[in-house]
Amino acid sequence: MDFELNQEQKMWKEAVHNFVIKEVKPYAQEVDQKAEFRLDVLPIMGQIGLLGLNIPEEYGGTGIDVVSSAIAIEELGWACGSTALAISAHNGLGCAPLVNFGSEYLKEKYLPQASSGEAGLTSLALTEPGAGSDIKGGVRTKAVKDGDEWIINGSKMWCTNASIANFIINLVRTDDQDSFSLILVPTDTPGIRIAPAEKKMGVKGSPAHEVTYENVRVPADHLVGEEGKGLRYTLATLDGGRISIGALSVGLAQAALEEAVTYAKQREIFGKTISDFQAIQWMLADAATEIHAARLMIYQAAWLKEIGKPYSKQAAMAKLFATEMAERVCRNAIQIHGGYGYSSEYPVERMYRDARLMTIGEGTSEIQRLVISRFLLS
Ligand SMILES: Cc1cc2nc3c(=O)[nH]c(=O)nc-3n(C[C@H](O)[C@H](O)[C@H](O)COP(=O)(O)OP(=O)(O)OC[C@H]3O[C@@H](n4cnc5c(N)ncnc54)[C@H](O)[C@@H]3O)c2cc1C
Repeated sequence: MDFELNQEQKMWKEAVHNFVIKEVKPYAQEVDQKAEFRLDVLPIMGQIGLLGLNIPEEYGGTGIDVVSSAIAIEELGWACGSTALAISAHNGLGCAPLVNFGSEYLKEKYLPQASSGEAGLTSLALTEPGAGSDIKGGVRTKAVKDGDEWIINGSKMWCTNASIANFIINLVRTDDQDSFSLILVPTDTPGIRIAPAEKKMGVKGSPAHEVTYENVRVPADHLVGEEGKGLRYTLATLDGGRISIGALSVGLAQAALEEAVTYAKQREIFGKTISDFQAIQWMLADAATEIHAARLMIYQAAWLKEIGKPYSKQAAMAKLFATEMAERVCRNAIQIHGGYGYSSEYPVERMYRDARLMTIGEGTSEIQRLVISRFLLS
């Protein structure tokens, strides 16, 4: 792999960085404290292409490469974990199945709105009260064909963006055996109930909801791809999502490191700044090294995806390393801040809480290890 970003990727990184410095980072604390996603930022995000990262230009998307998509999420993560998670879920979970497997009809109908942000974000509902890591064994939500319609009944958990989404793509059983399908349901369909946002430890401005379906009817053509292939589509979608969550984690860690460096150079005790102590220097050096390693792992997995090579193992490794790394780096950033790091006056406290999710969402660390070990042992 050529580790140098190309000219276009460098320009894209700079453009997104300049955008988030002005429009996202200054609001990160407020987003966390109010536990509210800033909807007013969506139109401008749509304009600069952050809402159509995987969407081809013909449907209004950005049509950029996978490394550039990862860069965008990394920059958003650097600015605000909550905002980054909502945008990552929109691109990587809500839009991706439609882009990769949806019919021409569904793409034309829903993707232009999704990439402009004019109808809100999008959501993917896999998890249920009894189904997280084990979606195959646990999913109970069912869709039954009735003439030209699907009738859906069941309950989903932790649907990121549901309350601010135009549609939710749902993993459902489409017969009594192990046949799963993805069905797109517009959020204004009668029979859907979106519960208030879950109260969370971090990423508080990224709303996640329980969603229940009671005799919800959608047209038969709202099936995404082919009936019975939902599980395969889901696993492929999660492979891409892992790159995104890893990139977000690199951004969070980078932001925490920058805060730690600034603080270490200012804080004076024992007649020196704490940056003069080797214990502090080593924490900073380890953080910078691990961030660099994680970033390269993410870019490599993204590049493999871009050129159409298998990348499941690399995506799982990159997600595992980047998310656990981010937790360590944010933890040490608090340590470097001493007591002030534990105060919500300083952003490292929020970053640590935001980073904590990343080893859980879109496949826990244990599931990533399972995926990686399967490659080793098969
Ligand atoms: C903020 C947030 C946002 C989310 N957004 C979405 C979303 O948009 N859409 C969506 O569908 N889901 C979403 N999720 C759900 C998330 O993907 C699941 O929480 C996650 O996959 C873990 O599932 P679970 O919570 O049911 O845990 P479980 O599967 O019950 O796991 C519990 C523990 O057991 C471990 N474990 C499970 N299986 C194994 C095994 N075979 N070997 C070893 N250990 C194992 C797990 O690693 C974990 O430590 C979100 C969750 C959160 C917290």
